[in-house]
Amino acid sequence: MEKVDVVILGAGAAGMFCAIEAARRGRSVLVIDQAKSPGEKIRISGGGRCNFTNLGITAERFISRNPRFALSALKRYTQWDFIERMDQAGISWHEKTLGQLFCDGSAIQIVNMLTREMHEAGAQLWLNTQIRHVRAGFEVETSRGLVRAEKVVVATGGKSIPKMGATGFGYQIAEQFGLRIVETRPGLVPLTFAEQELEHLRPLAGVAVEAKVRTGATFQEPVLFTHRGLSGPAILQASSYWREGEVLRLDLLPAGGMEAALRALRQSEPRIAIRTALARYLPEKLARYIDARLGITSSIGALSNAALADVTTLVHDLALKPVGTEGYRTAEVTLGGVDTDDLDARTLEARNVAGLYFIGEVVDVTGWLGGYNFQWAWSSGWAAGQAV
Ligand SMILES: Cc1cc2nc3c(=O)[nH]c(=O)nc-3n(C[C@H](O)[C@H](O)[C@H](O)COP(=O)(O)OP(=O)(O)OC[C@H]3O[C@@H](n4cnc5c(N)ncnc54)[C@H](O)[C@@H]3O)c2cc1C
Repeated sequence: MEKVDVVILGAGAAGMFCAIEAARRGRSVLVIDQAKSPGEKIRISGGGRCNFTNLGITAERFISRNPRFALSALKRYTQWDFIERMDQAGISWHEKTLGQLFCDGSAIQIVNMLTREMHEAGAQLWLNTQIRHVRAGFEVETSRGLVRAEKVVVATGGKSIPKMGATGFGYQIAEQFGLRIVETRPGLVPLTFAEQELEHLRPLAGVAVEAKVRTGATFQEPVLFTHRGLSGPAILQASSYWREGEVLRLDLLPAGGMEAALRALRQSEPRIAIRTALARYLPEKLARYIDARLGITSSIGALSNAALADVTTLVHDLALKPVGTEGYRTAEVTLGGVDTDDLDARTLEARNVAGLYFIGEVVDVTGWLGGYNFQWAWSSGWAAGQAV
């Protein structure tokens, strides 16, 4: 039987970060993961360059029943702390857009930095190891034998991308020890449409446009039309707020001015079709889609102010009703998770189970697209690492 001070379940971003901190404090630490290598999501994130944090970390960028819960950890281990860590390790990075920081080279550099730091601090890592059961006390039953530990940190992530080994196992442990779970659902995920709507949208597949998308929150970023529906950063962001049955409202020309432009074209080029007029401001295929929805056959010169106002409404306030999402298969994150009311914000320890901690994505804290989720993993891992 293996005996350690701290056993950490999951060698993802949060688990590895916690292991480094705890081991540096002199605790004996064992990290267990079923995967064959650690930090797989770091490796594939951000198109292989890992959007590892964001310059603008605020409570508003996190979705949770209590978005302020995350602030304690986020303020004690900040984006600047992680940036300093990257600089010390000699990993170069750049800001892409909206405060999002990416590696200049491969995301593997971050995985290597974390595994090296774990090793140097003396933390053990068991890979290819199934975690079968966690018993009070604590005893962790694994495919490599029994592990006894004073403290258990659950860092098994959410349900997103089962093909990469996501299991939702952390929620089971939480429930087993009497913690509540805020309902989980896929987030940062493409939205899908019913066949009837798709018939009209499918010809747009491949079109990308900067748009303002409104659901529970408003996002202005690129929208991508796909064969299944809608994707792109603005849609992924909106998907975390969208609820089944809700309509999505898109402003396809967020700079505004559609109505004034159409009126001017009515004067200057009265013979052109409305589709031609729209194509001056929108991608051709999108102009055709709007035109088909309007069903206007006459040229722009024959249109009344009211008709132009209808065209404008479709461009600035296009209503589309998704039927669902692509689900956990492609979702970048899992919304919901271990109820923050049952955790101490400073240490991430369960309020009613001494020695049991939950960090990273398994907790009901989900960031926007843009490096927020990794910052939560670093910050929550760091906070628990000081306490275990
Ligand atoms: C395609 C993709 C791209 C992303 N890009 C970004 C990005 O650029 N920026 C950003 O901020 N966020 C990004 N994210 C989100 C980010 O990856 C996660 O929020 C973050 O990895 C969560 O860290 P974690 O340590 O909590 O969980 P994870 O990284 O998911 O780690 C959990 C670990 O636990 C292990 N595990 C699970 N169940 C068991 C079990 N039963 N037994 C043993 N081990 C188990 C898993 O194998 C895994 O190694 C992306 C996500 C995806 C899917």
